[in-house]
Amino acid sequence: MRKQLSVAVMVLVGTGILLAQKQATPQADGQKIREHVKYLSSDLLEGRGTGQKGGDEAAEYIATQFKDYGLKPAGENGTYFQDVPMVGIKTQPETTFSLVPADGKSLALKMADDFVTSDETQAPSVDIDAPIVFVGYGITAPEYKWDDYKGYDLKGKVALLFVNEPISQDPKFFKGKALTYYGRWTYKFEETARRGALATLIIHRTDLASYGWDVVRNSWGGELSRLKLDTTPKLEAASWIHLEVAKKLAAMSGHDLDRLFQEAQSRDFKPVELPVRVKAHVVSSVRPFSSRNVLAMLEGSDTKRKAEAVLYTAHYDHFGIDKAKPAGNNIYHGAIDNGTGCGILLEMARVWSETKPAPPRSILFAAVTAEEQGLLGSEYLGKHVAALPVQPILDLNYDALAPIGIPEEVEVSGVERTTFYPAVDKIAKKFDLTIKPDAHPEAGHYYRSDHFSLSRVGIPSFSTGEGLKFKGHDLAWGEAQAKDYVDNRYHKPADAFQEGWDFAGLAVMVNFGYALGEAAATQVAPIHWLPGDEFERAGQK
Ligand SMILES: [Zn+2]
Repeated sequence: MRKQLSVAVMVLVGTGILLAQKQATPQADGQKIREHVKYLSSDLLEGRGTGQKGGDEAAEYIATQFKDYGLKPAGENGTYFQDVPMVGIKTQPETTFSLVPADGKSLALKMADDFVTSDETQAPSVDIDAPIVFVGYGITAPEYKWDDYKGYDLKGKVALLFVNEPISQDPKFFKGKALTYYGRWTYKFEETARRGALATLIIHRTDLASYGWDVVRNSWGGELSRLKLDTTPKLEAASWIHLEVAKKLAAMSGHDLDRLFQEAQSRDFKPVELPVRVKAHVVSSVRPFSSRNVLAMLEGSDTKRKAEAVLYTAHYDHFGIDKAKPAGNNIYHGAIDNGTGCGILLEMARVWSETKPAPPRSILFAAVTAEEQGLLGSEYLGKHVAALPVQPILDLNYDALAPIGIPEEVEVSGVERTTFYPAVDKIAKKFDLTIKPDAHPEAGHYYRSDHFSLSRVGIPSFSTGEGLKFKGHDLAWGEAQAKDYVDNRYHKPADAFQEGWDFAGLAVMVNFGYALGEAAATQVAPIHWLPGDEFERAGQK
């Protein structure tokens, strides 16, 4: 206890906080994080599946903790919960899909081997008979002076396009080799739907997608969860086609696929109408269900600024229990992914609840659901941000942090794109943490975690994680730990709690995140995206 206090004082002096006005900064306790992670990843919670009993129990547990800390409910109707209406959609085997040329033989495609598809409109069945238009990458990005459509109207058409984005080594053009959101498949479906397309066919190329056809096939083969239909435009057939099918389709149209790919690299590219139609009958099972985000807040102390908040997020869901597999090895415990993020979020909430006085701005905590289903809980939170009791000015997200010792590096990728970076840099130095740049910017990790759902509605957001260098170990050790996790435990039942884990490092991550939140909740200067950033326009809305 005494040791903790002296550390607290050192931190206080270091950060130049006014000692006279403020009690000692409360400190995070690794033991408490351990208990949360152990419980949330236990067999009792059955892998916290979205729409499953264990997931609902995890939400209850988190709400109970928030209440115990004396935090105010920030959900709907004075509760800690925000209902997230969803549907489970599975494309049925009677679905048919064929390519029909203006003249010549049509080509019937085989589901799973040749194509995968999902009806985003959530209808039990749809029939499509529409012409195909090749739209290059299907990107409109004014900040890079890029527009593949040139005013072309996709209404009633089927869009054919490549995943990823124009090849670039120039950091000012689609961020060089780093992937921007324009390159993600989710953007392709959203943009073509906004432009009125009935269906979209993404051409799969292993090099462009950075994963093989088997990944596409597996992830689209089962039931997919989506948010219940809202006003966002949707496709009747959001599809991927195998590269060999795309080659045949190009040949049927009198084109060469490699040639089309080359043409798509140019700013002068214009959509190419192909003399081939898609004829499809898409049958889906549609199962409505709902899950919940869990929200709590600490009210700010400044009457003028307490309507603004620093938001902390972590997803609590994982893959649940797979009853088709033999008992004993069918629970996806999700101890690291994302029991650890929840443990951090809860300990962060406890520490903030003991902060006297509260900071000028409010502090908001959100444990979100259905991340593993495609960031759905956070998407719902982002889309309904105006309904929250306070408006987030920054989101700090936590997703899968290894409890393996004291970190000497942090990953805060994305914050360098905002005006908050200098503050983060300063605080990292005080914590003796080296900021580690994103090791694989081409993989687009930034777009694959919950903070992204807040970014896309304009809120500066990033995830905070450890790097690979831990105290008392060399970098190779950290790399080996990360590799072992990815190879043997990531998204597998084996991501289970280990008694030997050391949670002291996660307590450091809480203290670091607290200091970031404190700076953001106190500083006068607004936090926004830097000029020219892909999220800048969303932030100005
Ligand atoms: Zn995951």
